[in-house]
Amino acid sequence: MNPPLPTLVFDFDSTLVSVEGADELFRHTLSGRPDASEILARFQALTDAGMEGRMSYEASLKARLSLLKASREEVEAVGRDLVARITPSVWTLRARLALHAHRIWIVSGGFHELIEPVADALGLLREQVRAQRFRWDEEDRVAGVDPRTPMARGGKPEALSDAGITNPIWIIGDGTTDLELRERGLAERFYAFTENQRRSVVVERADGELTSLDQLSTLNHPPPEPL
Ligand SMILES: [Mg+2]
Repeated sequence: MNPPLPTLVFDFDSTLVSVEGADELFRHTLSGRPDASEILARFQALTDAGMEGRMSYEASLKARLSLLKASREEVEAVGRDLVARITPSVWTLRARLALHAHRIWIVSGGFHELIEPVADALGLLREQVRAQRFRWDEEDRVAGVDPRTPMARGGKPEALSDAGITNPIWIIGDGTTDLELRERGLAERFYAFTENQRRSVVVERADGELTSLDQLSTLNHPPPEPL
């Protein structure tokens, strides 16, 4: 009997889409603001604080979100734009992804509100997305990060555990937070996905490198193919 097919857990930013969703939101929202240059200077200060270790990435993200106060319309516009930025090999394989949707998850430090339009376009299941959610103020503007999701509580390890997946898990992503899931024993394999971003430190510790998604079907796995 063949072993069970792996559950494929995808990263979102720079994996399923070719860009970083939060960066796109910041760029889009800033471009419409009359005080863009002033906000940009404060942004730069927050980025520097993160780089110099005076502030964590999470704290910097929260501060930038509450500075911008993106509207619901702006968030929706960026969600639509991300559909147009789906990674080329992912878009080519969308019919096959949709066919295997029951065993595909998206685990991302990004935001449901930006990921779900892309999941819909690929035929993937919204209930198999584990990510952050925006916190909205009374004027329907983004005020920060909702602290109640597993992702907000404990990052990708907590979000993946919360998903309750029982089959072998293969992680596909471009970042160290994706690699860590395998290094912590939460996944069986980790494949570095480098079509958009190639980080040597991640690739060197991966079980393999995928320069495009169609390489997944050629990996060493008894038939049927993993994707
Ligand atoms: Mg990524």
